[in-house]
Amino acid sequence: MSTIDAPLIGVLALQGDVREHLAALTEAGAQACTVRRPSELTQVDGIVIPGGESTTMSKLLGVLDLFDPLRERLAAGLPAYGSCAGMIMLASTILDTRPDARHLDALDITVRRNAFGRQVESFETDLEFAGITDRSGATPMRAVFIRAPWVESIAPEVEVLARVPDGPAQGRIVAVRQGSVLATSFHPEVTGDRRVHGYFVDMVRTRR
Ligand code: GLN
Repeated sequence: MSTIDAPLIGVLALQGDVREHLAALTEAGAQACTVRRPSELTQVDGIVIPGGESTTMSKLLGVLDLFDPLRERLAAGLPAYGSCAGMIMLASTILDTRPDARHLDALDITVRRNAFGRQVESFETDLEFAGITDRSGATPMRAVFIRAPWVESIAPEVEVLARVPDGPAQGRIVAVRQGSVLATSFHPEVTGDRRVHGYFVDMVRTRR
C-alpha cells in the first residue's frame, strides 16, 4: 500500500532492465512493484518505463491490453519516468522507428532512435543534470548510453535537464521534463547513483 512518504511506483515489466529499476526505486525511498496488467496499473502512483527495445515494447503493450489504459492514465497526469526505450515510448514524435510502432504521446518531444550511430552506440560520460548536480557539493552524474535515442527538438513547455557535454554529439539533449513526465536517454539504474530515481520519487510525492 502506498503512503505519503513512500509512494507506490510501478515498473512496466514487459521486457528490459526491470529489476534494476525496482531496486533503484526502493533505494530512493519508494515502494516498487511490477506492472504487467491493467489491474496493476490502477494501483500505482507513478510508473517507470525501462530501457529495452521500444518497437517490442509497443507490440507487447498492445498484446497485453495495456496500451490504451496506460495512455489514458498518462493523459490524466500519472507521473512517469522513461529511460532510453522508455523515453521513446513517452514521446510524441519518433524518428527512425518502424511504421507500425506506437507510442504513448505523453511528452512533447521529437526523439531520434539509435541516434548516436554505430561508432558510439554505447558510451559513458559525466554530465550536469539540472536540479540535481547544481546543488551545493553535488558531483556530476555518470551517464551510461546504450543504443540510446537523443531528443531532437522540444515544445516550449518542455524543460531541458541535461545535454551531452562533449564529443561528436556535444549539446544534444538527453534528459527532459514536462510537468509530471521525466525522461532520460541514459540508464541511471545501472550506475548505483540513485539521484535520478530520487528526483522522480519526489515528483511523485509532490504530485499526489
Ligand atoms: N535502441 C532501443 C530502442 O530503440 C533503445 C535502447 C535502450 O533502451 N537501451 O528502443
